[in-house]
Amino acid sequence: MNTERLSDRLAAVASYVEAGAVVADIGSDHAYLPCFLINTGKAQKAVAGEVVKGPFESAVKNVQRKGLSDAVTVRLANGLFAIEDHDAVDTVVIAGMGGTLIASILESGKEKLQQVKRIIAQPNLHAKAIREWAVSNSWEITDEAILKEDGKIYEIIVLERGQMTYDELDLLAGPFLLASKSAVFSEKWNRELVEWNRVLRSLETADSTAAVTLKKEQLKRQIELVGKVLES
Ligand code: SAM
Repeated sequence: MNTERLSDRLAAVASYVEAGAVVADIGSDHAYLPCFLINTGKAQKAVAGEVVKGPFESAVKNVQRKGLSDAVTVRLANGLFAIEDHDAVDTVVIAGMGGTLIASILESGKEKLQQVKRIIAQPNLHAKAIREWAVSNSWEITDEAILKEDGKIYEIIVLERGQMTYDELDLLAGPFLLASKSAVFSEKWNRELVEWNRVLRSLETADSTAAVTLKKEQLKRQIELVGKVLES
């Protein structure tokens, strides 16, 4: 992967960036995505935010090597604090992390979202945490995708401002993904069912503390919900 050719996962993320966008890519270890968006003329300006020094330095080097320092600003910062008001960022991308971490980055820096119109989140797991954050913060899901690359399954969630109510299954599996129910979607949830059943069997032999009982109930509920979707 490089700034000319992205992985299928990052290319899918890039496809949700609107032409002329000003993008902040948070957790931008090599700045591949911002450089690609500028090189292809899709974005007019970008910020690459990275909290760890080594990856930040790789991002700086890549941007300099490509001669893109005028269009891509690389900042060493935690989460959305890489964004400054004068950047006029309208699109935030947070990709390649767990959904719980993405949701916590959104929550702890939400004052930085005032000018932002679109959030493109690509969780590697626990996408539900992002959907729950969206509902609590008046963002609605406007699109979703699921794809498989090198044996791993990834989800993409696109958020815009709005208010929607989602049921338990929508939050878990994604309203758009449920509607299209692709082969990759079925594969993901079949994998989860196998794992949940394995955990449930191991909990059957554990001491029945309140925490164990609660976990078993949650797993049974998820198995029931997802099982019905896969059967239908
Ligand atoms: N976004 C790229 C992608 O999708 O290929 C890189 C993904 S990499 C697995 C995750 C990156 O996010 C790491 O470089 C990590 O240091 C960075 N990161 C994690 N938490 C962060 C935070 N709170 N703020 C900024 N960067 C963060």
